Amino acid sequence: METHRLRNILHPDLLRERLASEQRVRTTLSFYRYVRLTEVEALRHALYEEWERLGVLGRIYLAQEGINAQVSVPTANLEAFRANLDGREAFRDVPWKIAVEDDGKSFLKLAIKVRRKIVADGLTDDAFDVTDVGRHLDAATFNRKLEEGALVIDMRNNYECLIGHFEGAYLPKADTFRGAIEEVVEMLRAQPAQGSEQPTCTVAPPDRPSSPTEILLYCTGGIRCEKASAYLKHHGFANVNQLHGGIIDYTRQIKAQGLESKYKGQNFVFDERLAERITDDVVSHCMQCGAPCDRIANCQEASCNILLVQCPECARKYNDCCSPSCREIHQLPPDEQRAWRKGRNTRSSKTKAINDPEGLRRRIREEEEQLARTGTLHPEIIQAQA
Ligand SMILES: [Zn+2]
Ligand SMILES: [Zn+2]
Repeated sequence: METHRLRNILHPDLLRERLASEQRVRTTLSFYRYVRLTEVEALRHALYEEWERLGVLGRIYLAQEGINAQVSVPTANLEAFRANLDGREAFRDVPWKIAVEDDGKSFLKLAIKVRRKIVADGLTDDAFDVTDVGRHLDAATFNRKLEEGALVIDMRNNYECLIGHFEGAYLPKADTFRGAIEEVVEMLRAQPAQGSEQPTCTVAPPDRPSSPTEILLYCTGGIRCEKASAYLKHHGFANVNQLHGGIIDYTRQIKAQGLESKYKGQNFVFDERLAERITDDVVSHCMQCGAPCDRIANCQEASCNILLVQCPECARKYNDCCSPSCREIHQLPPDEQRAWRKGRNTRSSKTKAINDPEGLRRRIREEEEQLARTGTLHPEIIQAQA
C-alpha cells in the first residue's frame, strides 16, 4: 500500500481556505472506546483511506487499548460514516457525542495517529483493572446527586477548567493526569466521612479505609473518567459515579430535556475555537487586569504561545500577548522577529496555561517599569541592530 499519501501534506492556510469555501454542512462529533485492537498500523491506514473518501476531518488516536476520535463529518455522509464504523466489530455501536455549538469548521485536516495509549495518563497498564469503572450517570441523575451534596471532581487538564466547570467542583491543580488523580486521592482521604461530626481540618491517617462520600467525576467526553473511576475504585473508594458522555453529552441532554445546566461558563475544546459556551455565567477573570472575563487566548508571540484568560482591552493593550516582553517581540518587523526566534522553540502549545495570574500581574508591573526606564526588555535585540 502506498502509505505516503495517507496523510495531509497541504499548508494550513490552503486547508483553511479550502474549508471556508466548502459548501458542505458538517457535523462535529466525538467517540471513544477502550477495546483491544490488533495490527493498529494497518488499521490506521485503512481508516485513513476510507474516512478521507467520506470527507472526514479531525484528530483520531489509535492504540492497542482502543480508539479516541474527534471528527467533523459532512452531514450528508453521517449515515455512511456510521455504517463504516459499524462494519468493524471493534467499533460497532460505539456511541457518538455530537457537539452542540459548532459551525463544522473545527478541523482542517484528517490526522490519525498511532499512540501507545488513547489518553496519555502516565499510569501503568496493569496497576489496576481499567474495566472496573464507576456508575455512569445521565445528566438528570448527575444534577440530582449534585443537589444532594455529592462531591464533584473535575478530571480534565487544569487549563481546561479555567473558563467553565460544574458548580462547587474540586479542580485539581496538578498539570498531569497522574498528578491530578493522585491529588484527588489525597484530597478524598482528607475528607471527613459524610454525616460525621469531624471538622474538615482533621488529617486522616494514610491507611484510612475509603470514605463513604459520594463521588461525581466528569471530564470533556467521559473518557478520562473511565480510567479515573477505575483508579479510585482500585484505591478503595466504593461510591464512584461518572458523567456519562462527559460535558459534551451533558450539554446535549440538558438542552433536549430542558434541564438546568449546573455546568457554568464555557467548555474548553481542542480545536480552533478553544471554547464553546454552555451558559452565560462568567466564572473566571482576566489574568492580566483581574476583570471578570472568560475569553481564552494563546499568547501570539510564537516562542511563548501560552494559554491565558485575557479580556479584549488587555488583548489590545498587550497586542494579543501575555506580557510586555512578548509584546515587544511581537511588534518587531517580521524579519527581526524571525531572527530573534532562531534557535528558540516555537512549537504551538494548547496544553500550557498560566497557572499563577498573581505572578503574571507582578511580572507585567516589573516589565512595564523596566520598559519605562530602559526602553526595551530585550537589550540583545538593540545590540544586534547596532
Ligand atoms: Zn484584562
Ligand atoms: Zn507570551
